[in-house]
Amino acid sequence: MRLWIGRLVILFLSAFSVLVAQKRAQPSAYELLFQQFRSLTVDSERIGLADNYTFQRDAATFFLKEGRLYLTKPIGDRVCAALFIGKGYLSLTPTTPIEQNELLLFAEKKSLQGEEFSSAFFVFGDHSMNEWESALRFTPRPMHSQVDQKLDRGLKTFYRSKQSVLLYEVAKTFLEKEENNFFAAFMETENLKDVLFMVNPFVEEQVQFFEISRSWIQPRVYGDLITQFRRPGEKMCSPEERANLRHGYRVLSTTINCTMTDPIKILNEYLDFNVVTSIRVHAVDRPQHWIMFTMHQRLRVDSIRTSEGMPVRFFRGEEDEEMWIECNPPLRPDETRTLVIYYHGDILKKADARLQLLSSSSWYPQREGWSKTMFDVTFQYPSKYSLVAVGDLEAQSHEGDVSRTRWVTNRPVRGFTFNMGRFKQKLLHQEGSPYINVLYTGAADAWISDELADDLLQATTFFEKIYGPLTTTTLHATETPYFHGEAWPGLIHFSGLTFLRGQISDEGTLIFRAHEAAHQWWGIGVDVRSYHDVWLGEAFAHYSGLMYLQAFQKNNKLFFEELVRYRKNILSRPTDKRRPISLGYRTRDYSVQIYQKGAWVMHMLRTMFMDLKTVNEDVFNSILSTFYRRYLNKVASTEDFQRVVEERTGMDMSWFFNQWIHGTDIPKYEFAHKIESAPDGKYRVQCRVITSNAAEGFQAFVVIRINFGQDRFARVRVPIKERISEFDLPLLPLKPEQIIFNDMESVLCEAKEVRW
Ligand SMILES: [Zn+2]
Repeated sequence: MRLWIGRLVILFLSAFSVLVAQKRAQPSAYELLFQQFRSLTVDSERIGLADNYTFQRDAATFFLKEGRLYLTKPIGDRVCAALFIGKGYLSLTPTTPIEQNELLLFAEKKSLQGEEFSSAFFVFGDHSMNEWESALRFTPRPMHSQVDQKLDRGLKTFYRSKQSVLLYEVAKTFLEKEENNFFAAFMETENLKDVLFMVNPFVEEQVQFFEISRSWIQPRVYGDLITQFRRPGEKMCSPEERANLRHGYRVLSTTINCTMTDPIKILNEYLDFNVVTSIRVHAVDRPQHWIMFTMHQRLRVDSIRTSEGMPVRFFRGEEDEEMWIECNPPLRPDETRTLVIYYHGDILKKADARLQLLSSSSWYPQREGWSKTMFDVTFQYPSKYSLVAVGDLEAQSHEGDVSRTRWVTNRPVRGFTFNMGRFKQKLLHQEGSPYINVLYTGAADAWISDELADDLLQATTFFEKIYGPLTTTTLHATETPYFHGEAWPGLIHFSGLTFLRGQISDEGTLIFRAHEAAHQWWGIGVDVRSYHDVWLGEAFAHYSGLMYLQAFQKNNKLFFEELVRYRKNILSRPTDKRRPISLGYRTRDYSVQIYQKGAWVMHMLRTMFMDLKTVNEDVFNSILSTFYRRYLNKVASTEDFQRVVEERTGMDMSWFFNQWIHGTDIPKYEFAHKIESAPDGKYRVQCRVITSNAAEGFQAFVVIRINFGQDRFARVRVPIKERISEFDLPLLPLKPEQIIFNDMESVLCEAKEVRW
């Protein structure tokens, strides 16, 4: 009987959902476009004969030797794709040596000169149709037997069927219905893998070339990026300009009202999480019909409304981060519009006394990528929890067992997050430094949080002394259930592991804590311009951690052990697989190249400008403090940093940056020396250095230490430039006991002592 009732209910529900589905049958422009694109067919009336036909798209030349070019049927009134089957050749030369090298790693040549392809599928928002129509005659012709299969493969490169979403460039190009310079060519080549060439108007460095691997389906990107570079005359973008280019709209401010309540069912692992986010937007330079936001896929959008409460149409794919919002009427550049987004979802998970926010950054809708904006965020939550967030605490109240706190940023920030839990608190303050506020759970002993607060205060004081003052008044340090740390403006998330008894004094943990603290200066205080410059955040923060260990914790031994460990890692990478630091995430070896080699670069700068007699480091410190003060709350590039180094040292430093940031050579030095008596009871030391594993002209300033015994020593700095460098040390008054080449690890190299 009970079973029967159950069935009845289910039947009723499914009938109801059919009704709902029918009511929503009117698909949005996005859904229509997706359906039309996915089911594109070729137009049997419009097939062109390609016979030694050449056309060019920026750095790429397409030579269609023989075959047929099948136009697809239009979407709306626009033909936006075509299929070529036959014999064609692609030529492509990246414009910079670094990018030519990237191509070399993929194709074993620095330039493609007539790479044969047997089919190509073109998708375009540019003038291709006009160009082809004026050169080829499109008429009814017999079709190749593989047309359907090739077309299907080509199309599949541009949409994700599981989520029912188009790739961003395709969606944006055809939803905006404007001609742009988007051009993509998916090719099945004879000797390389399947590849995709693209002129992408939605990114900086608009010429892109990908390898398409069907076995590795990564969401939201086309495939594996092989090379990417600027079109001729393409200008450098600031992060804001880059994001504007991609999205066509700007976010002026974000206001969030977030209500979190304990789940009614005690066994539910997630807190109820209900949010209303209001975003003020306007178009950048031309009207926008559809704009895209991203948000964690676990969050479900209930509705989107205008500030007047009118419903706004949107589209979200299955389990997808993208959220496309229709602007009806189109969003204009001179108009500010508020979108109010209502959503909820399981994203805040209970984990003992801590709560696990499944994504610290995508718990609210945002313009993907770099979006510096103002935030005004109000949280409502059970009083048993404490909460800290980015920004200043503007208001707080407690009613019954519900707390409300409001957090407002006083300047635009890149992102906003919070941490909530059943925390205890340790507040520490020293005149002239920011408050240190440690929030930790009961799992940690009180003395551990005392130690952590003390350590953070010392690190902060140390960095403020070298770099300059922080602009935040409080630095919150909070415990999370994760295994990694994260730095936010005025807020650091530390892994719960940091708070464990055995970890608190561990040197690795100590470096890592100081690294996260140093991000307040590097990465947050001074933000980086593009992916080429990420080392200015990560390597600076990491080397700051090492300097703190060395200077404040007086652990010189471990400081050098860490550098040696990094060198081992760097050298363990095969020479032809090493990528320069300036490739950022594209190094494919991020932690070794960016953190570890980056830290070495900082170390080399430091030793190069150290006064060897007094060990005075004023020059290095002034480089960093000038850089910090000049670019605080701005973005900086590697070139900006180079300019500051040159200004503080009066030296042309392009050789240094070319070698270490844009290059991959790690030199090998074989050092030999000979000690002889000289007149007046003095000693002459002859030295010879043979350099290998480095390009012609590679140079370095190596520190040599001369030990005389009984703790007496002297240091000299020698330039090494030639394949074989021979030089004498200054005449010595005492007979040296030992000559040490590359003292203080002054240069990242393999050094070997050999016989004269
Ligand atoms: Zn970091």
